[in-house]
Amino acid sequence: MPEVTRFAPSPTGWLHLGHAYAALFAHEQAAGGRFLVRLEDIDGTRARPEYEEAIFEDLAWLGLNWETPVRRQSDHFDDYRTALAKLEVLDVLYPCFCTRREIQEEIARAGNAPQGPDGPLYPGTCRNRSADERAERIAAGEAYALRLDVTKAMAGLSDLIWKDRAHGSFKARPAVFGDVVLARKDTPASYHLAVVVDDALQGITLVTRGEDLLEATHLHRLLQELLGLPVPEWLHHRLITDEAGKRLAKRDDARSLRSLRSAGWTLDEVRAAIL
Ligand code: GLU
Repeated sequence: MPEVTRFAPSPTGWLHLGHAYAALFAHEQAAGGRFLVRLEDIDGTRARPEYEEAIFEDLAWLGLNWETPVRRQSDHFDDYRTALAKLEVLDVLYPCFCTRREIQEEIARAGNAPQGPDGPLYPGTCRNRSADERAERIAAGEAYALRLDVTKAMAGLSDLIWKDRAHGSFKARPAVFGDVVLARKDTPASYHLAVVVDDALQGITLVTRGEDLLEATHLHRLLQELLGLPVPEWLHHRLITDEAGKRLAKRDDARSLRSLRSAGWTLDEVRAAIL
């Protein structure tokens, strides 16, 4: 079956060999189908236009063709607001007034906090605040994020299954992330919310991405269920590492595709280094 795949970089740094692998991988999986590019730039404090331009330059240099216009997340905040409104109706969100520091202190106080893939889980401080207190604090102009009450969200749902073409079928365990933030005070979306909304709106049939995001799929499967979105299949691929076995990072400019290119690397050499 022809697939619709996407490469979804964040324009927050130069692309490196790991991105080249992910882009070539997604493109190859779309053979005979459609390959899309999406700019994940909801973090307005880190996204920069020069990184965005460089993404297109690098992808063209890799010999890839993609459909235009590309979807830029920051152009579509209304889509994420609509999804949040649906979750509000289901009563599975709550406002969280905690600052980062308060969360850390609470975790330290509790000791032995359960760990998720991104670190200790949110201790649930704001989960059970009364409707009156919430309304008062919001009316007073206090900043808040919206968190998913994951236990409530899963109540009454039967097992959610998702399929990864390399790793097999999974029964979703969305609670591994605890009560995640789905919207921040200044952004009506988080990565998890935006990615499921976008994949559905763009008609993605096969989500390809690195194995570092495999755990996130447990949560994405739940969000798709709650929002009534189509469920794609996934293919999480290996990560490209340096000689020391460490994952490549965006901060490491020396390994960016543009530095390799100016150091004289050819496309064949890039392919040989990762494929
Ligand atoms: N934007 C994410 C990243 O840069 C990829 C998200 C995804 O493929 O789901 O790692």
